[in-house]
Amino acid sequence: MRPFHYNGHPARVIFGSGTLSQLPDEVARLGLKRTLVLATPPQEAEAKRVAALLGDASAGVFAGAVMHTPVEVTEKAMDVVAETEADGVIAIGGGSTTGLGKAIAFRTDLPQIVVPTTYAGSEMTPILGETRDNAKTTQSSPKILPEVVIYDVDLTMSLPAGLSGTSGINAIAHAVEALYSRDANPIVDLMALDAIGALHRALPRIANDPGGREARSDALYGAWLCGMCLGAVGMSLHHKLCHTLGGSFDLPHAETHTAVLPHALAYNAPAIPAVIVRLQALLGPDPAGALYDLAGAVGAERSLKALGMPENGIDAATERAFANPYWNPRPLERDAVRALIARAYAGERPAPDTTSRPGR
Ligand code: NAD
Repeated sequence: MRPFHYNGHPARVIFGSGTLSQLPDEVARLGLKRTLVLATPPQEAEAKRVAALLGDASAGVFAGAVMHTPVEVTEKAMDVVAETEADGVIAIGGGSTTGLGKAIAFRTDLPQIVVPTTYAGSEMTPILGETRDNAKTTQSSPKILPEVVIYDVDLTMSLPAGLSGTSGINAIAHAVEALYSRDANPIVDLMALDAIGALHRALPRIANDPGGREARSDALYGAWLCGMCLGAVGMSLHHKLCHTLGGSFDLPHAETHTAVLPHALAYNAPAIPAVIVRLQALLGPDPAGALYDLAGAVGAERSLKALGMPENGIDAATERAFANPYWNPRPLERDAVRALIARAYAGERPAPDTTSRPGR
């Protein structure tokens, strides 16, 4: 066993079906009397239902959350926090809504309860990514980590089949990169492997039958573990590329992760033979190819071109991957990184791993 550091983040997690009904008790447990409920515009009705469930313990609803947590939206929400004298926030939705709750908590240290309805995993991390004038900044603070997370499988049943697939593969990306993280450790490995297995089994079942409760439950369980991985260890080239591509070309978050992941894993494969062996046990002889096939099985778009990336973006993204690079198990080689992005752009099958170098 090689030496390691492990930092656990404190969070209370409630998991099950119908668990939203426990929200009033959780609000009371935190001593909150005036909570502000957050959502995106399409999920405003859910937010209102949550506010009604809370009765007097709700001070109002702000349903203006959007992707990538723009500071202008947070400032509007902060005005509502002040007007309503909110003493806590409740985020119901995906990573966009969770991001807004975190941005408010970062500025105010108000307690947060998150009710995730996608598989993004943000609720388990002390990380906040914000955008101002299209530039993304990321920071980490204990104030950002939500106090309570209520996973309610029932609330994921409405997640459209397409977004379920890409959101689930976005989650898998956290676990895959955790396995070869510089900070990898045996606890996080356990979570990552269990999560990848659960999501790999569940996502095609959800694509075939979006109303299947057991697969939905397995996927949400896997997503929780993937969020734990993301919160516990550093990410590598795959996340760097997705942040760069999403920010530079305004590409959709989960879909971009889905298109890039097989190629990022194929790039790193020669440097992580032991991780590849563990992934082979879950995914079959060619893990990168299996993730490409999984994206196909859930009906996801596998080409960055189809997601809206311009062709001249291949060179631009290659350059940006080298600016403030994340630690990566395989050193960044300009031609190979460009080839990785070009394959993801075209939606081709990932290059097979024909080399074998010593490493993790
Ligand atoms: P999202 O939150 O933007 O949700 C996508 C859309 O799906 C929204 O319109 C939302 O209202 C809708 N939706 C969500 N749940 C639904 C449901 N159950 N039924 C029907 N519609 C539903 O997308 P996301 O992929 O969850 O989150 C992406 C954002 O999260 C990005 O901004 C990303 O940067 C951030 N993120 C942050 C972290 C972190 O640790 N800081 C981690 C992962 C993602």
